[in-house]
Amino acid sequence: MRFFALIFFLCFYCFGAVGERIVWSSGLSFLTFLEQNHLPLKLYYNLSATDKELASEIQVGSVYYLLKDENQKVLQALIPISEDMQIHIYQNPNKEYALDFIPIVYTTHKNTLVVSVQKSPYQDILEHTKDIVLATEFVNTYRKSIDFHKYMLKDDKLAFTYTRKYRLGRTFSTPEIQSAIVQTNKKAHYIFGFEDSFYDLKGREVAGFLLEMPVKYRRISSKFSYGRWHPVLKKVRPHYGVDLSAAHGTPIYASASGKVVYSGYRGGYGNVVEISHGDGIRTLYAHMSKRDPKAFVGARIKKGQLIGRVGSTGMSTGPHLHFGVYRNNKPIDPLGIVRTEKNQLKGSKKKEFLIFANQQKEILDSLINSYDFSEKKGYVMTESIQ
Ligand SMILES: [Zn+2]
Repeated sequence: MRFFALIFFLCFYCFGAVGERIVWSSGLSFLTFLEQNHLPLKLYYNLSATDKELASEIQVGSVYYLLKDENQKVLQALIPISEDMQIHIYQNPNKEYALDFIPIVYTTHKNTLVVSVQKSPYQDILEHTKDIVLATEFVNTYRKSIDFHKYMLKDDKLAFTYTRKYRLGRTFSTPEIQSAIVQTNKKAHYIFGFEDSFYDLKGREVAGFLLEMPVKYRRISSKFSYGRWHPVLKKVRPHYGVDLSAAHGTPIYASASGKVVYSGYRGGYGNVVEISHGDGIRTLYAHMSKRDPKAFVGARIKKGQLIGRVGSTGMSTGPHLHFGVYRNNKPIDPLGIVRTEKNQLKGSKKKEFLIFANQQKEILDSLINSYDFSEKKGYVMTESIQ
């Protein structure tokens, strides 16, 4: 079956060649993409094992760019595999197609928003920033620590700092809230983003989401890494999950309750099951020898339910589970979010956090206290652009 991508005809380069912005459609595999665009399949087959895995990271719904000449021949393709990296297909000087992984160029804006709430946090954030994704993210982040409907009154204050990424003049990815204050009836509720989670002033996790280890493993054979681009080595690759080595056939259990959003074979990842857990969290289980028939797309799965068995399908040197965790489609370190004996900050980490939180608290307090809300009910300010 062929799945055709939804095409936005957006001409960004109009001298004979046409650039298109296209959404990666559901069911489209990288090989099918090559086929549809008359690109040589060896671009995929010649990739190393790691790179074949990475090519399986292309997310449904992500936007890629195609540049074609007047005969519809592809001159260049840029397909994101994460916020940081993309597949680059181009013609080398011998007019042969080549494929490489290159960093995505984007700018990060660090912003501050201060608001005297008039309608609701969501509505007011939206009014001041025109950013629906940001308003949603803010409300979701606070959901577990305060009930806005119950406690929020008109003229209560909120302030927060966040980053927003821009690529080719458009926002992309989810905004990252760094630290925030919500002041209700003179009581302040703070949250501080620290190492992939949010904590209150005392270092207690407030918006955490904990997962169980999906498998009884022997050892971690490969850790998670963003594989930040190294300008000299040029070959550093990310690893968007942990590899848990275990005997062939070892049962794999769902890390948390949720709904199966993918079950099938996917390139370098082999047999894959993906579960969406709400709160923007999604888990991925790859290289399975067998997917459990009960883990079909759309099925509701309970935490601890069998979803498949360890294997080495796809690109894999031996039986292991590649376990990936995504927050808002962004890969995060699974080991940072799986349940350990107690998910609280301790020791030197806690010290580091408390220093950070107190600095942030002072900034947030002064944002609210130094602003005169009598004329304007809020403002957004861009502090820095990187
Ligand atoms: Zn892996």
